[in-house]
Parts: sequence; C-alpha cells; structure tokens
Amino acid sequence: MPTSKLVIAGGGPAGMMAGLLFARAGVEVIVLEKHGDFLRDFRGDTVHPSTIALFDELGLAEALLAREHDRVTDISATVGERSYRVADLSHLPVRHKFMMMMPQWHFLDFVRDEASRWPGFTLRMNCEVADIHQVDGRIGGVVLTGGEIVDADLVIAADGRGSTLQQASGLHRQNLGAPIDVFWFRVPKRRTPHNDTMGRFTPGTVIAMIDRGDYWQCAFVFAKGGAETIRGEGLDAFRQRVARAVPEIVADLGAVKDWDDVKLLSVSLDRLSRWHRPGLLVIGDAAHAMSPVGGVGINLAIQDAVAAANVLAAPMAQGRAVDDLLANVQARRMFPVRVIQRMQRAVHAGVLGPALNASAPMEAPFALRMLDGFPILQRIPARLVGLGVRREHIRSPETAKL
Ligand SMILES: Cc1cc2nc3c(=O)[nH]c(=O)nc-3n(C[C@H](O)[C@H](O)[C@H](O)COP(=O)(O)OP(=O)(O)OC[C@H]3O[C@@H](n4cnc5c(N)ncnc54)[C@H](O)[C@@H]3O)c2cc1C
Repeated sequence: MPTSKLVIAGGGPAGMMAGLLFARAGVEVIVLEKHGDFLRDFRGDTVHPSTIALFDELGLAEALLAREHDRVTDISATVGERSYRVADLSHLPVRHKFMMMMPQWHFLDFVRDEASRWPGFTLRMNCEVADIHQVDGRIGGVVLTGGEIVDADLVIAADGRGSTLQQASGLHRQNLGAPIDVFWFRVPKRRTPHNDTMGRFTPGTVIAMIDRGDYWQCAFVFAKGGAETIRGEGLDAFRQRVARAVPEIVADLGAVKDWDDVKLLSVSLDRLSRWHRPGLLVIGDAAHAMSPVGGVGINLAIQDAVAAANVLAAPMAQGRAVDDLLANVQARRMFPVRVIQRMQRAVHAGVLGPALNASAPMEAPFALRMLDGFPILQRIPARLVGLGVRREHIRSPETAKL
C-alpha cells in the first residue's frame, strides 16, 4: 500500500507521541532528536489523567502504570500557617483518577519502546534539524546540521519552545507575556504514604513543592527578570528565603550546594497565530509555550499529537496529500490552548502576582477559601487541570502490522 513519509523534528512528548501514533497507523515515520538521550533534568514530570486515559485507549495504560511512578490525587496550597485543599482528582470521570509523577525521561523511554514495536518507526538520536528544505515553494523536508537533507511528504515541528523550524518557516509567535520566572531545585525528604505535593505562599515568596517520593522537586517562583538579583544576594540568602517559606525542610537545604543545583526556567507564554504551512505542521511547545502553572505542558503537547494523528494519519497511510487538512489540526487545538493560557494568566495576575508583591502576612485569596470551604468545587480545577478542555481521544487507526 502506498504510504507517505513523515519527518518529526524533536523527540519530546509531542514528537514521540506523534511518532507512535502515525507509525501505528502505517505511516513511515522518522523522529529526529538532537540529544543523545532523553535525560534532561528538570523538564517536568506530571502525567495527567487525560494522558493516562489516552494510553488506556491504546491498551497501554497497564504497561505505563507498571513503570515506577508516584500518584497524586489532590493538591493543596498553604498560605501562611493554613493549608487549603484546591483540587480533588478522585471524582474525575476516567478510570485512572490521579496524576502520575514520572520523570519525563522515563515517560519518553516508555513511548519510544512502544513506538519502536511498529515497523514504520525510526528514531534518530543526535540528529539536529537546522533548517527547512524547500521543494517547489513547499516544505519538502529538513536540513540537518552537517547538511544532510531528509525528504518528507510532511514535516511536524515538535522541537520545543525555541523551535528552529517555526523560526525558519517564518510563522509568527505572539508573546502573551509571563510575569514570572522559576528556579528549580531538589531537596531530599523521607518517603510518606501520601503524596504531599503542594504550593506554599508567604509574603514575597511562592514555592511549589512536587513530592517525588524521596525528594522534593521545588519550584521557587519570582518576578520575571529577577534571577541575577537573587543570585547576587548569595546562596545563603536564597536558602534562608526558602527556609522562611518552608521551615520544615530547613535541615535538608544543605543539599543545594551551589547555583549549579538551581536551574532557571525562563517562563514563556506564547502561541503561533498560524501553526502550518504547506508541508509543515507545528505542535506542542513549538506552537504554544505554556506557563508551569497547572503542569499542563506535557499533556497539551500530547493532545496536539493525538489531534494531528486523528486528522492526518489515515490519509497519509493511504499516500494522500494532507496540506489542505493541516488547518483542521490547528482549528481543533487552538481553543484548548487559549482557554488554558487564559487560566494561567488569571493565576499569574490574581494569585502569584499579589503573593510575590506582598510584604505583610497575607490572607488567602478568595478563590482558595471558597475551594477549601466547599469541597465539591475542588472538582472544577481538578477537571480543568486533569482533563483539560476539548479532550482528545484516539481516532487514528491501528493499521500497521506488528
Ligand atoms: C523546568 C521545566 C519544568 C516543567 N514542568 C512541567 C510539569 O511539571 N508538567 C508539565 O506538563 N510540563 C512541564 N513543563 C513543560 C513541558 O516540559 C513541556 O510543555 C513539554 O515537554 C512540551 O513538549 P514538546 O514535545 O512540545 O517539547 P519539548 O519537551 O521541549 O521537546 C522538544 C524536543 O525537541 C528537541 N529539539 C529541539 N530542537 C531541535 C532540533 N533543532 N532538532 C532536533 N531536535 C530538537 C529537544 O531536544 C526536545 O527533546 C516544564 C518545562 C520546564 C522547562
């Protein structure tokens, strides 16, 4: 049967998931990843119920859940001395009513293992895409660093928020503005029976603490552009700020030995107004960088991959041209991206901004008090974050032979 050739730039969540789904549908797929492995600490490790449900639809949830992970069923925020429960995932209308905490490289190893079972799937590591390759006014492949041309009937740019292909193709990025940056660091802890992932708000300081079993993955949030000032005050002053906000980890803060242990995430919130050109589709962070609020980035990237495969995989497997269908993928995905980015901007302005600017003990924001006081309301953020909006389901066919 004639099939088209798909080249995917980037082996992150969007690119690997797209690779799996298109190969499963019988399309010849090459994923080009510039690194030699998936091990990049830290890129986030929240696998949401919407993503687990997709693997369930593929018959792969049990295999995924068999890999080492932790589970989160509720999320709290501590303001001053008091803890407020803000999201309860245990009522979600899906089989697996929890968030998996799994280092992203383990998750990507899993997707690679599953994708590699399909004969049409090829993953080329240490392959950096440097440019688009134009053929008769249309994008007909990519150029690798070193000059090799890889031809394609369709190129998917899943090369992250600094996307080389988006820039090379001239697609416009609209910056929505993010008023925060984040320092990520780890602090050892004792394993507890319950996952204690939480946010901690004190005047001038916001810290999200992701419970990773035997360590906290901490996100220290500060006003955009403030990294050099904080570094200039010295590591001791930084540790003291952390200790004031989370006194119970003070004894373990010695694990943060120098600034190499503290990674800066320059937060971006942006999206492309157009995600495609003839021969090219942009998905994942390359199409829309998200704020870390809600930990939705991986999951939105995966939903994009599923939508792309739903629209394009069957015709490509039959060798049909798909340029006219690319706009359908954007039309499907732009709405959820807009809604989630709007929610993130509201949290920046209404929760993080006031907390970072506060100089005296704060009262918990009204929304937190409402959520804690009326537990049924905790299902709303759980649904928005856990399942998103306009959730995708697997509609692309399984036509390849294993
Ligand atoms: C510090 C940090 C913490 C985060 N925390 C969370 C979280 O807790 N939960 C969450 O859901 N999201 C989180 N995110 C966001 C999440 O990691 C991204 O939204 C998600 O990984 C996007 O997936 P993607 O496949 O679109 O892009 P990426 O994950 O960025 O993958 C792009 C891939 O393309 C490769 N690449 C780039 N350029 C090229 C090129 N020219 N040629 C070939 N390959 C290339 C990269 O090496 C990478 O593997 C976090 C991000 C960061 C940076």
